[in-house]
Amino acid sequence: MIEDTTTRSKNFIKEIIAADLAKGKNDSRVQTRFPPEPNGYLHIGHAKSIVLNFGLADEYQGHCNLRFDDTNPVKEEEEYIQSIIEDVRWLGYDWEDRLYFASDYFNRLYELAEQLVKSGKAFVCDLTAQQIREYRGTLTDPGKNSPFRDRPIEENLDLLRRMRAGEFQDGSRVLRAKIDMTSPNLNMRDPVIYRILHTEHPRTKDTWCIYPMYDWAHGLEDSIEKITHSLCTLEFEDHRPLYDWYLIQLGVYRPQQIEFARLNLSYTVLSKRKLLQLVQEGHVTGWDDPRMPTISGLRRRGYTPESIRHFCERVGIAKKDNIADIALLEYYIREDLNKRTSRVMAVLNPLKIIIDNYPVGQVEQLEAINNPEDAEAGIRTIPFSRELYIEQEDFQEEPHRKFFRLAPGREVRLKHAYIIKCEEIVKDEMGNILEIHCSYDPQTKSGDAQSNRKVKGTLHWVSVTNSIEAEVRLYDRLFVKANPDDVEEGADFKSNLNPQSLEIKSARVEPGLLEAQPGDRFQFLRRGYFCVDIKDSTPEKLVFNRTVPLRDSWARIEKMNARQKQ
Ligand code: ATP
Ligand code: MG
Repeated sequence: MIEDTTTRSKNFIKEIIAADLAKGKNDSRVQTRFPPEPNGYLHIGHAKSIVLNFGLADEYQGHCNLRFDDTNPVKEEEEYIQSIIEDVRWLGYDWEDRLYFASDYFNRLYELAEQLVKSGKAFVCDLTAQQIREYRGTLTDPGKNSPFRDRPIEENLDLLRRMRAGEFQDGSRVLRAKIDMTSPNLNMRDPVIYRILHTEHPRTKDTWCIYPMYDWAHGLEDSIEKITHSLCTLEFEDHRPLYDWYLIQLGVYRPQQIEFARLNLSYTVLSKRKLLQLVQEGHVTGWDDPRMPTISGLRRRGYTPESIRHFCERVGIAKKDNIADIALLEYYIREDLNKRTSRVMAVLNPLKIIIDNYPVGQVEQLEAINNPEDAEAGIRTIPFSRELYIEQEDFQEEPHRKFFRLAPGREVRLKHAYIIKCEEIVKDEMGNILEIHCSYDPQTKSGDAQSNRKVKGTLHWVSVTNSIEAEVRLYDRLFVKANPDDVEEGADFKSNLNPQSLEIKSARVEPGLLEAQPGDRFQFLRRGYFCVDIKDSTPEKLVFNRTVPLRDSWARIEKMNARQKQ
């Protein structure tokens, strides 16, 4: 059984916060932040960070800021900022009036850089990027000092001001911290603080031609916002000594950085660089393609914010890298949709049946329960008539041993309707089945007292004339391997793309679905959970995305594990 995740579990970060609160540290404030770089759309890995940061603030009556870490004008765009705002809001979180931009701090960050220069802890370096790399050394060899390291403070200050004033070319000079070129931590070997970049910034336009490096900006942004617990992924563990060094040298407020393992998901890539490649090279239709692990892709696919939040809470917070099973994410969306969706009928591979003993032209409105899990969802009616569609795979001319659906001479129940019997098959000259003739038993209407005669198979169906056409998009995993980065030599992750990740069908659906609005979710009986596409669906041509099939491989895996443990 999968445990109940509505009760939040303890994790090591909560233990740290609880201990800090008990000590009265930071005046017992809890202030977190989610700090995306606006260089792509948010993905499910970011959702984990969002749920963690906003969740902790909620739990400890603190606050969580949304802060754009927009220090790199080359890769950042307004479109990304808008999408991130939309996605965090959609996930259900509110930053109130605390929407910040690193670029709003550019003046302050520059002042602090001058302060570091004045204290003799930073210098302007004229080495080229290539030389800086060479001087840095390696993990086994110490680096060596830049020949510009001992410039007098006055000269450094003058050069920095002239860098800012635009006197120098891109790449000709940088401002560097003066720390230790022999440190075993490469981040501490006189890291770059400012670089020259004559590029317009989406927000500050041409005000600046020098831009702070991420490592300079990030810790100071947290300090400026008086973040108490600065949560970040493990790759920043080695940067923490540098952030702390800056904060101590400058004598400013010092947040506590805590690292946790990033979310990895099987059959999925979670790197903006790779996701951008998929978009730019046309492997998907955009950042919001329903096969993408982006929040906007998952939203379009039919995922609910609740299912994503529950998933993130369930995978929890670890100190070691690990890979979550995508089947677990699918489990949570099934759980949620099972409770909230109406069951409707849609035939994806239509096969026509004709009920010979049903009156020509008669249409009967049959009652159907919308959701057996939710009494308040009520009932609707569906038109029944002489000509119907069932699924091709629900008929076998020569049924195999375990096939209990329609076959010559066999009886099945049509859901919400009658028991029918297959009487005759009509084929074309090529031997393809054109239609199946059946009879029905009027005494077997669903819900009638005398109708409890049992047959083994129950099929879904729609009326031929009283159904509507819809495009149905069946999605499968985007990659064929659990680890998409497991590739042959010379190939990259794209060689593992699943060529069958999208199958498009022309389906027939109940006429009531004509009223469905973009984003509405349904269970198509026996076929899975579907939602009306928010982009391409129109009243003239309905388009449904399959969110997940019904089969729950995760529950099966759990059962198997439980059995093995016994
Ligand atoms: P990517 O590696 O996908 O390009 P990033 O880390 O560069 O992502 P940012 O915009 O810097 O993207 O991330 C914003 C926040 O989200 C950071 O605090 C980062 O640590 C966190 N984050 C990013 N990816 C993940 C992940 N897979 N799991 C958990 N947190 C993540
Ligand atoms: Mg990052």
